[in-house]
Amino acid sequence: MSGQTQRRLFSAQRSHALRRHGFDRFYVAWHPRRRRVGISLTDEGIPELRVPYYFPDDEALGVLEKNVDWLAAAREQLRSRQQLAPVDEAEAQEMIEKSDRIVRDFLRNWSGKMPRQLTLRFMKSRWGSCSSNRNISINACLCRLPRELARYVIVHELCHLEELNHSPKFWALVEQHVPDWRELRKKLKKYYFG
Ligand SMILES: [Zn+2]
Repeated sequence: MSGQTQRRLFSAQRSHALRRHGFDRFYVAWHPRRRRVGISLTDEGIPELRVPYYFPDDEALGVLEKNVDWLAAAREQLRSRQQLAPVDEAEAQEMIEKSDRIVRDFLRNWSGKMPRQLTLRFMKSRWGSCSSNRNISINACLCRLPRELARYVIVHELCHLEELNHSPKFWALVEQHVPDWRELRKKLKKYYFG
């Protein structure tokens, strides 16, 4: 038994705070070499407390309650992420093509510097990237964004062809094309793609 991770599912029924946020179960996972307590959500949206092996299970609920706002926010992230990410290979291909079309349509009316190469692909943590040799990659989830946000993502990467940084000069350039970039940038943070 010792030396192995033990994971158990518990009911959250006696916690008003957790129930109120829609959490009815949680996991506690005892790790033999862990020293600190860590909290996460499983892919199914169930809270999981990862604890050292000596951690008493009746303290778990209290820790989760203290972090219930974080858990609720993490679950929101998980949900919106699931909405954006493709469910299978066919859908992924469709999204790549659709996003590619959106960017190329935009480029037709773009008078600034053009990318040497444009790639649409699924990225874990970014909407786009631009390399010093003028290759631009855009996240293929782009087609699932509201139009104004998709436009901002494209402009952002294109402006990196001029300024490969996030200096005031860069943002001034972005502003020429997207005056409300500050607001859009904030909105974009609500979308996740895993
Ligand atoms: Zn950037």
